[in-house]
Amino acid sequence: LNWDHSFVRALPGDPRADTIPRQVMHACYTKLVAWSDSVADLFDLDLKEFERPDFPLLFSGASPLVGALPYAQCYGGHQFGMWAGQLGDGRAITLGEVVNSKSERWELQLKGAGRTPYSRFADGLAVLRSSIREFLCSEAMHSLGIPTTRALSLVTTGKNVTRDMFYDGNAKEEPDYAIRHHFPHIENMNKSEGLSFSTGDEDHSVVDLTSNKYAAWTVEIAERTASMIASWQGVGFTHGVMNTDNMSILGLTIDYGPFGFLDAFDPSFTPNTTDLPGRRYCFANQPDIGLWNIAQFTATLSTAKLIDNKEADYAMERYGNKFMDEYQAMMTRKLGLPKYNKQLISKLLNNMAVDKVDYTNFFRLLSNVKADPNIPEDELLVPLKAVLLDIGQERKEAWISWVQTYVHELAASGISDEQRKAQMDSVNPKYVLRNYLCQTAIDAAEQGDYSEVRRLLKLMERPYDEHPGMEKYARLPPAWAYRPGVCMLSCSS
Ligand code: AMP
Ligand code: MG
Ligand code: MG
Repeated sequence: LNWDHSFVRALPGDPRADTIPRQVMHACYTKLVAWSDSVADLFDLDLKEFERPDFPLLFSGASPLVGALPYAQCYGGHQFGMWAGQLGDGRAITLGEVVNSKSERWELQLKGAGRTPYSRFADGLAVLRSSIREFLCSEAMHSLGIPTTRALSLVTTGKNVTRDMFYDGNAKEEPDYAIRHHFPHIENMNKSEGLSFSTGDEDHSVVDLTSNKYAAWTVEIAERTASMIASWQGVGFTHGVMNTDNMSILGLTIDYGPFGFLDAFDPSFTPNTTDLPGRRYCFANQPDIGLWNIAQFTATLSTAKLIDNKEADYAMERYGNKFMDEYQAMMTRKLGLPKYNKQLISKLLNNMAVDKVDYTNFFRLLSNVKADPNIPEDELLVPLKAVLLDIGQERKEAWISWVQTYVHELAASGISDEQRKAQMDSVNPKYVLRNYLCQTAIDAAEQGDYSEVRRLLKLMERPYDEHPGMEKYARLPPAWAYRPGVCMLSCSS
């Protein structure tokens, strides 16, 4: 691994640096149970390394990794809308940063390898269940095309209670360091070539992003966050704990706790029992919470005098614009429409909420609707019948009316049915990591059988493809999925 410790070397003498050394935990045994070949590629790691007998020791934190300079970060954040004061990595240990052969920089972490100076009263460990969930979901999100942290491997240690992950992560760090290493295009911004941007305010005020790199940086973070959240909405992903310390300035999905993909469409869905009854982090609130989080970030930079109020407002405005642009474009692609149609889309979402229609399967089946305005009324719902279950006559009529308008729009587009289906299927996944699928893999893993974890990992690597013989993984959740602890989890799960 090509380590670059310039960041850590900069710390000695910095009063904010926590220099308490951390001793690695001695585990009874360690076992590698799942791994990702494509993450290994990110570090130019030979796949044979997975076979090394000491691999589980190194990636559980039991043996030190040559070249690593481990540390845990101190940070603060907002939890459920309230400033929670000083926190810190309670169970994430950064090993350092690696620059790969493509000059990409990855921060590597162990998660759940034991106590850190910020573990407070907790053990610094991660249980098998939450570790499997995070490992599978981050890989599933990556394959859905959503920016995310990723995990190299899943290692169990000791008595079937812990396992650790190797991570890339986020740099919630000194702006200068972050800009230089993670936003080099901003560092190298050429002022003479710079453009000014109108804020669109009535007074036609202009924010010149080339005159303040921190403002340009803030805008980019706001836009990356907006874009990430738009893609969450597209696949029905509900993060569950969008506290500010769970946001990444790189615009990556980070810290998979009680997340959940929507099954039946419900805008107020939250997978997090700790978030009831307020539902601050429910599916429909995510775009607003993203903005709230950016507002906390800009406020911090304003207080530090790195940006002024106008620049802070501008970043938030850009968040809103970016979110709307990406969300509208994405919904247009999901429906295979020639152009954005607000009314058609909101009517659809409304119908889906009323009839609790499965979010993933509905869009996947929608590509089978033919753009033929002459299809008789009683055949219009045939392609969707697997997701329009138990609906009465009145609701049937509402759906027929919607499909009629939809078909009319499609017919006007002039795109062939085959072409539209291919385009729609490339944005509407057939397979998402539904919580009940995860639970099945966890139940087997807790009995020592990791084959289902690996099977899900393989399947979720290609979520947009048909996988003959694997259709059962696209099924609606069975009744047992609604028991506590399967689709609903707490923050500490
Ligand atoms: P989260 O809500 O997952 O973002 O967690 C908030 C903070 O608690 C983070 O700094 C975590 O690292 C820390 N934390 C969560 N679980 C544990 C644990 N088992 N031991 C120590 N710290 C933890
Ligand atoms: Mg966290
Ligand atoms: Mg967490």
